[in-house]
Amino acid sequence: MILVSACLLGINCKYNGGNSLRKEVLEFLKNKGEFILVCPEFLGGLPIPRDPSEIVKRKGKNRILVKSITGRDVTRNFLKGAKKTLVIAKNNKVKLAILKSKSPSCGVGQTYDGTFSNTLVKGNGITAALLKKNGIRVITEIDIQNYLNSKEKKVA
Ligand code: SF4
Repeated sequence: MILVSACLLGINCKYNGGNSLRKEVLEFLKNKGEFILVCPEFLGGLPIPRDPSEIVKRKGKNRILVKSITGRDVTRNFLKGAKKTLVIAKNNKVKLAILKSKSPSCGVGQTYDGTFSNTLVKGNGITAALLKKNGIRVITEIDIQNYLNSKEKKVA
């Protein structure tokens, strides 16, 4: 079973009420059988549309801090959404998650730095990190071709 960020399949769950539809994700899923859509931020109780948020702090005493652009602390929502996503993933024996790049929830390998200035830093989104910690392979829409290439190499 594959878990997918809902916005990548055209669901209007992004902060601005839009989506991030990617045809390469649709193509990839065509012959893969069943998959599950999730939007961790929505699962965490945030509305659609909502203010954009970024991870402000990853380490230290309080470990993680996520704030909206208006300064609202939404850490709890992000953690709740990540935990709910993990439960869904575990209940459905998910082995692979295709997540939206750069998102503070779904991003893999890089996210924005918390200054709302389009600056990227290394690190995973809150949900991506939790899934990864629990043994689920996480990739983004950008990594699909590399993922397919690595699979082909294994078969060859
Ligand atoms: Fe897409 Fe993930 Fe953001 Fe939801 S939380 S809109 S699925 S990137």
